[in-house]
Amino acid sequence: MASLSPQPRKLPADEEPADPKTALLTPPVPSPSSPSSPSPSRFLFAFLLVTTCISLAISSAFAFLLLTSNSKPVKEVARSLSKLPHPVVILISSDGFRFGYQFKTSTPNIHRLIRNGTEAETGLIPVFPTLTFPNHYSIVTGLYPTYHGIINNRFTDPVTGEVFTMQSHESKWWLGEPLWETVVNQGKKAATFFWPGSEVKKGKWSCPDKYCQHYNGSVPFEERVDTVLGYFDLPSNEMPVFITLYFEDPDHQGHQVGPDDPEITNAVAHIDSLIGRLISGLEKRGVFEDVTVILLGDHGMVGTCDKKLIYLEDLSPWIEIESEWVQSTTPVLAITPPSNVSLAEVVSKMNEGLSSGKIEHGNYLKMFLKEDLPTRLHYAASYRIPPIIGLLQEGYKVELKRSDNKECGGAHGYDNTNFSMRTIFIAHGPQFGKGRKVKSFENVQIYNVIASILKLKGAANNGSESFADNILLES
Ligand SMILES: [Zn+2]
Repeated sequence: MASLSPQPRKLPADEEPADPKTALLTPPVPSPSSPSSPSPSRFLFAFLLVTTCISLAISSAFAFLLLTSNSKPVKEVARSLSKLPHPVVILISSDGFRFGYQFKTSTPNIHRLIRNGTEAETGLIPVFPTLTFPNHYSIVTGLYPTYHGIINNRFTDPVTGEVFTMQSHESKWWLGEPLWETVVNQGKKAATFFWPGSEVKKGKWSCPDKYCQHYNGSVPFEERVDTVLGYFDLPSNEMPVFITLYFEDPDHQGHQVGPDDPEITNAVAHIDSLIGRLISGLEKRGVFEDVTVILLGDHGMVGTCDKKLIYLEDLSPWIEIESEWVQSTTPVLAITPPSNVSLAEVVSKMNEGLSSGKIEHGNYLKMFLKEDLPTRLHYAASYRIPPIIGLLQEGYKVELKRSDNKECGGAHGYDNTNFSMRTIFIAHGPQFGKGRKVKSFENVQIYNVIASILKLKGAANNGSESFADNILLES
C-alpha cells in the first residue's frame, strides 16, 4: 500500500528547485485555477485513490485467508479406543537391533508399523555405556545409568566389595522407579515377559507369577508372543496396561559374527515374523488399533576383529597396570587402582604411552578421570563408577596381555555418539501419528512417553517434560 500512496517526491540534493512551491510536489496535475479551489480532476484523483486502496485491502485480506487456510494442515489427533476399556502399551525390545537392520531384508511387519506409526528417522540413541543392562533399565526408568545404578552389565560395589551380575535381583542395586512399579503403585496391572530388572521386588511390584516371567533364554520367542497375546483374553480388570516383551536376537548373532553377516539377516527376518505374529494375534482379538506397540532395541553393534586390539601390557614402559585394578576392559575400560596410587598420575602416564606412537593402536584409546569425561556421557556422578575410565573408538578392543585367542565378531558399549551404536524406535498406536518421522532422541525420554499414554504420574527422571507432548498426538 505504501508504494501507492501519493508520497511527496524529495528532489535530489543537487537539483535546485526553481520555485520553492515545486520543491515538494503534490499530484503532478497542472492547475489552471487558483490553488484554494479544488478542481474536478482532483476529485477524480482522490476518488480513484480511495477505491484502489479499498479494493487492494479487500483482495489482500482474501489472499491472507486463502494462504493461511491452505498452509495449515488438518491437525491429526489421537484416535479414541474402539474396544479396549483403557490404553495398553506393549514395549518390545529386540536386543542389539542396530539402526539400519530393518533394511537388510524384507521386513513387511516392521514396515507396517513404520508406515502407520511414528519412527525416530535416524534411530534411537542409547545411553553410555551402550550395553544391555544399563540401557534396558534407562528405557524403563528414564534415568541415566549414573542415577539408576546399573552402570555396567557387571561391576563391583567399591564400598561393600559385592559384585553385581546380570543375575543380581536384589533391590539395593536397582535404583529409580521402573514403569512396572509406577503402574502397580497407581493401582493398575503390569506384566513382564523378560526385561532387565523386572524380577526385582520394588514398591508394590512383587514380580507375581501370573504377570512376571523369570528369565529363561530357552523359552521360544513364539511362546513369548503367545503369552503376551493371552493377556488380552483376560477380563478387563485383570488385563495389564503395560507389558514388556524381550528377544535376545539379533544381539546374540551380532556378537558371534558381527553386524554384516547372513546370520543377522536371518535373525532380523525372524524378529519381523514375530512382530507379524503379534499383529495378527491382536487383530484377531480386534484390539490392534487400540494397543500401543513400541518396538525398539537397547543399542547397536559394530564389527570387531583381532587387528583392532590394544594391549595394556604394552604400557609397561610408562606404567604397570595390575590386573586386579581392571574392572572391565572392553568397550568400557574401567580401572580402580589401590588408594595409595595417584589416580591423576595413572591417567597421565597411560595417556602419555597411548599417544607416544609406540603402542599399537594407542591413539584409539583415551583415558579420563571419570569427572573429566565429556558431560554428555552422564557417567561420573555414581560412586559405583570406577574412578578411571578409558574411551575406545568404535570397533577397538582392550586386552591385558597378548594371547592366542583369535576372534572376529561384534561388540557394543562404545560412545553413544557412534552411529553404529544406534538402534530403532518405532511406535504404533492411538496416540502416534501415522507415517510420522521424528528426530533421533535418547532413550531416557521413553519413560515419560509411556507414563503419559497410560495417564500415570511419572517418577522424577532425566527425560524432558515436553518430549511426550511433542511426540504424542493430542488426545
Ligand atoms: Zn550384546
